[in-house]
Amino acid sequence: MSTDMNARTTGGPAQGPDDVPDRVRALRARVKEFVVDLVEPAEPVLHEGGPEADVLMGRLQRQAREAGLWAIGHPEHLGGGGLPFLDYVHVNEVQGRSEFGQVALGTFTLQDSLMLDRYASEEWREKYLRPIVEAEFWPSFAMTEPGIAGSDPTRLRTSAVVDGDAWVINGRKWFTTGAQHARYTTVMVRTETDAPVHESFSLIIVPTDDPGYRIVRDTPVLGMASDHCEVAYEDLRVPLANTLGPRGAGFRIAQERLGPGRIFHAMRWLGQAQRAFDLMCHRLNQREAHGSRLADKQLMQQHVFDSWTEIQSARLMTLAAARRMDAGDQARVEIGALKVAGARVLHDVVDRALQVYGAEGLTDDTPLSRMYRAARLARFYDGPDEVHIQSVATRLLRGYDAGREWDFGDR
Ligand SMILES: Cc1cc2nc3c(=O)[nH]c(=O)nc-3n(C[C@H](O)[C@H](O)[C@H](O)COP(=O)(O)OP(=O)(O)OC[C@H]3O[C@@H](n4cnc5c(N)ncnc54)[C@H](O)[C@@H]3O)c2cc1C
Repeated sequence: MSTDMNARTTGGPAQGPDDVPDRVRALRARVKEFVVDLVEPAEPVLHEGGPEADVLMGRLQRQAREAGLWAIGHPEHLGGGGLPFLDYVHVNEVQGRSEFGQVALGTFTLQDSLMLDRYASEEWREKYLRPIVEAEFWPSFAMTEPGIAGSDPTRLRTSAVVDGDAWVINGRKWFTTGAQHARYTTVMVRTETDAPVHESFSLIIVPTDDPGYRIVRDTPVLGMASDHCEVAYEDLRVPLANTLGPRGAGFRIAQERLGPGRIFHAMRWLGQAQRAFDLMCHRLNQREAHGSRLADKQLMQQHVFDSWTEIQSARLMTLAAARRMDAGDQARVEIGALKVAGARVLHDVVDRALQVYGAEGLTDDTPLSRMYRAARLARFYDGPDEVHIQSVATRLLRGYDAGREWDFGDR
């Protein structure tokens, strides 16, 4: 709902904890304008890929820099805009309207930048950190493997053994997003043989131009070219100094990376859902059938009601989780719940918008067809629904077992 509408219905804008804070309102509006005016119209070319798309993306990135909108969520000491986490969450929402928003605005490297900033050695900070903030090249993160359940990473088989002052890595990963563009990858490998399972894995930085790193194939998903690649690691040698953080800390660091990452995902999904909602409402007001506007038909109004309610619920849930994280809490229950709820809302809202559009929604004449397929992916990456459902329910039930009821009002 726009500020104008708030003002009309409540007699004036009220600033609650879940509203866009005044201090970030203008910036959020500028990012939204950038995405709506420049990035969304570029989507058909960007989806095609190839040299024309690269040139266009380069131009968008230049425009983002010139507009002072580049990497605004990255810390200032890394060359970013230094926007505090809770403010960035609001900007991320509108940036997410387009799946290309993050790349155009230089924020797609945020999770990896924070991880390198915290754990990389001086050499790797120098070599990779500034260039990824500048989007000179892409990072990638390789955990999932073919042939085993990615939702249970204790089963990962790719291993690294010490040979002199080097790691020798062997194994195979897949669904490594961005692998074709990446200059390096952070790979999760088994390094310890006699430690407890959650301390048996380490993260190692691997340059992708090493002869032991071979992209086997790019795997299209739901018919879309994807840059999610299968990669073979064949006697790949890297210095021991390429270990990110301490040996055996792979799970802990990966978890740290994923926590805020899920908030960022969820806010971008809300941006996509809002875009689908906008399209749905405009279409309903414009289209006529059987003697009246589609907007006047109650079955269509149900789509509007359900979508509004779901978007707003997921939004409040996500902002509440972000506030808890900002206060230093890991917010595991909230993060798990919003990962599932956010992906579902995105899927369902886009699905309704498709229905409202009729057959046209299935074509590439509207962005909905791609948004629909992309929404389906959200229920897998960063953990499939069921894993989060199980983890949230287990935590809640464990609390009750220990005599602690979950007081929604007290949290
Ligand atoms: C678009 C996309 C991008 C990705 N990018 C990356 C990336 O950059 N790097 C990377 O390492 N990985 C990436 N992944 C992989 C992703 O993390 C895995 O797909 C995910 O962890 C699930 O693993 P899996 O596909 O092997 O499914 P499996 O583990 O085989 O699970 C299959 C199904 O079993 C069910 N299931 C699993 N566990 C449970 C449970 N405990 N209870 C009930 N049911 C359960 C779920 O329905 C699940 O979908 C990406 C995936 C996608 C789709």
